[in-house]
Amino acid sequence: MKFETAAIHTGDRPDRTYGAVTAPIYQTSTFAFEDVGKTRGYDYSRTANPTRKTLEETIARLEGGKAGFAFATGMAAETTVIHLLKAGDHIISGDDVYGGTYRLFQNVMTSFGLEFTFLRMNDRKKIEEAIRPNTRMLWLETPSNPLLNITDIEMAVDVARKHNLLTVIDNTFATPYFLRPIEYGVDLVVHSTTKYLNGHCDVVGGAVVTTTDDLTEKVQFLLNAMGTCQSPFDCWLVLRGIQTLPVRMKQHQKNAMAVANYLEGHPAVERVLYPGLTSHPGHEIARRQMKGFGGMVSMELKGGAETAKNFLRRIEIFALAESLGGVGSLVEHPATMSHASMPKEFRDKIGISDELIRLSIGIENIDDLIDDLKQALEAD
Ligand SMILES: *Cc1c(COP(=O)(O)O)cnc(C)c1O
Repeated sequence: MKFETAAIHTGDRPDRTYGAVTAPIYQTSTFAFEDVGKTRGYDYSRTANPTRKTLEETIARLEGGKAGFAFATGMAAETTVIHLLKAGDHIISGDDVYGGTYRLFQNVMTSFGLEFTFLRMNDRKKIEEAIRPNTRMLWLETPSNPLLNITDIEMAVDVARKHNLLTVIDNTFATPYFLRPIEYGVDLVVHSTTKYLNGHCDVVGGAVVTTTDDLTEKVQFLLNAMGTCQSPFDCWLVLRGIQTLPVRMKQHQKNAMAVANYLEGHPAVERVLYPGLTSHPGHEIARRQMKGFGGMVSMELKGGAETAKNFLRRIEIFALAESLGGVGSLVEHPATMSHASMPKEFRDKIGISDELIRLSIGIENIDDLIDDLKQALEAD
């Protein structure tokens, strides 16, 4: 099955009992045994649930992996994956990862004896120099949040393989529609399904896709042991969202390209970050490894942080809100919102300035979006 078909034809379709064409919601905590010691395949919903299973198989298929797992949030997925490691292990992570990922690593997991190095993942030599005898994992995010930096995945995987490291990639921004990291040799894919996979800003969720039986067994064990899984109803919502992922992503990207071009030509704009622009330093790599550039655009305005704040107060169709990837456009200010959990010195060091604005371009009519940006940029 091709991607668009696999996104829709999920689970048993139609279902075996009544022929429902939509996956049923098994909103149950527990399952009756057929006989002593004999289940019908499920015993307790933390361990496994049929609605969750349908979502998990769907995401695994879209990513081209071995097995999928659905979690309560993207952070629950990441927390579970990082528990594949043990005290004393060292992880090399991108420095411009999602703010919550940085917080989990730096402010939580270091108390459990994990060690982290954060660096820009575009320089092979720097990654190799950061490897220690106890390094076990490379953590990648491309395009990154909010700077939209691009990592050459094949290069990173090549370094990881030479040093026997697990590679994990956060594929939230690109989605498997635009980027299939497993084809480049990545070991584990994580998602915040809250964003594009669900796509409607009405659920929080996460996912992990594995590539080997060993990783599948370990992630299943941790999910059950830690209880980080997603509820059946929320799984059903994500499944429903995924059915339209291909059409949504196409439209997100079309609108984002138009917005990026408009902003790049606007005199009030200092710089635009969008991997689809030829001015973007990662453009060539993005073109090679992705099928599209996604729907996220970041920018800096001339005139500093105060100008940025005024812009955020004036913009109307774009809601001033955290999160991204929904059908409706959102705008946010990383320094005070999504990346406030990073210390200011660290933000400054990696290039998240106080004037940086991040736009999640929705699938509304593009003329309305451009008109809204224009009025917010040009009001005095
Ligand atoms: C939002 C986000 C997360 C965290 O996911 P939640 O569902 O909010 O817990 C992780 N990575 C990226 C890239 C994100 O955008």
